[in-house]
Amino acid sequence: MNKTLKELLEAEEKRQRQGLELIPSENYVSRDVLDALGSIYTNKYSEGYPGKRYYGGQENTDKVEQLAIDRAKQLFGADHANVQPHSGAPANIAVYQAWLEPGDCVMAMQLDQGGHLTHGHPVTSSAKLYKFVRYGIKDIETGEIDYDAMREVAKKEKPKILLAGFSGYPRALDYEKFASIGNEVGAVLMADMAHIAGLIAGKALPNPFDFGFHIITTTTHKTLRGPRGGMILTRGTVGNPLKAPDKTVENLPTLIDREVFPGFQGGPHMNNVLAKAVAFGEAQQPEFQTYAKQVLKNAKRLADELMNRGFKLVTNGTDNHLIQIDMMKSFEVTGREAQDILDEIGLTANCNSIPNDPLPPFRPSGLRLGTPAITSRGLNEDDMALVAEWMNAAIVGRNKPDQLKKLKAIVSEFASKYPLPSDK
Ligand SMILES: *Cc1c(COP(=O)(O)O)cnc(C)c1O
Repeated sequence: MNKTLKELLEAEEKRQRQGLELIPSENYVSRDVLDALGSIYTNKYSEGYPGKRYYGGQENTDKVEQLAIDRAKQLFGADHANVQPHSGAPANIAVYQAWLEPGDCVMAMQLDQGGHLTHGHPVTSSAKLYKFVRYGIKDIETGEIDYDAMREVAKKEKPKILLAGFSGYPRALDYEKFASIGNEVGAVLMADMAHIAGLIAGKALPNPFDFGFHIITTTTHKTLRGPRGGMILTRGTVGNPLKAPDKTVENLPTLIDREVFPGFQGGPHMNNVLAKAVAFGEAQQPEFQTYAKQVLKNAKRLADELMNRGFKLVTNGTDNHLIQIDMMKSFEVTGREAQDILDEIGLTANCNSIPNDPLPPFRPSGLRLGTPAITSRGLNEDDMALVAEWMNAAIVGRNKPDQLKKLKAIVSEFASKYPLPSDK
């Protein structure tokens, strides 16, 4: 590596070590996951699936991918797993393309209330191909979804997919209600659990498959704590991916496999598939359940500590790992200003739109936080009071450079006591 890049690598390591990571979609992987990612599996082309490859030399890759598939199925109680999607967005696109025809309708969460870009934001290619209709929150104070309105819109629009999932919603979804509405209108039930997969694998949150969902898509790098990547889990019959099956729910696994490759992607990134197998093995250990439960305990405590200090939380709390703060209401600073102030003291968070946000997406009112990364780092509930206090002191003292400098030193000294999980 040349000197400039080596310096940038070291600088990033220092940033991660001396700060506290509060972005809810980020985490720290283990040394084994890092080693797998940096392994010689990156040299290998493996188009196809285990036992059905196009190139030679697959005696090892077949075993690796099969192990990743078997572990994923076991972790989430799926009949089938496709571990090849390069990330969460390609996983969602592959499902849309496997099941929908252009012009078909998908019903998903209101984007400013927590839905993800890939759930049909107008700037995406999916939104140009398919029609997206919305469900949303009934009561901003509690965050409860308006299931009656969901049913009405679903009856009228007859979506082919009813999509449960979010990247900015701090409350629990009622999967039973989703299933009853989806079944009533004949929609395939899809859960995008990119954010919460690790909490489901760790048995801290319910699994949509237990409520009759047909498809789960996820990233593998958020709470699941694996390499950057995506995955699609299904229930149904696994046929021959090389033969086009009818579009039936039973055939979803085959339809999706065909769409991931060759429909949408080329060769899988086998170093990444190896790292997924490693991470899924880690998620099968009892300690992973302890981690998942601690993520939730930390989030609840951090929410309480923040509210005690005058932070106004969207929905007034959290049921999962993430917290949304209305920074304008709390302190009359924008989410983006808050993000920059916290950056100055070594706390990393991200600004985000909140429901009915009067400000534009690039400079929104909200600040989004989460506890997965700091939990992986080893922080517990009692540490959340410190984090909330530092946040408060930074926002209140935002115009006092000396105070921010002092806070940065305090945060850095504290964070340096907690090694990165990949140190071990
Ligand atoms: C993060 C996320 C994605 C996209 O994942 P990428 O890996 O960034 O492509 C999709 N859906 C949801 C709900 C997410 O939170």
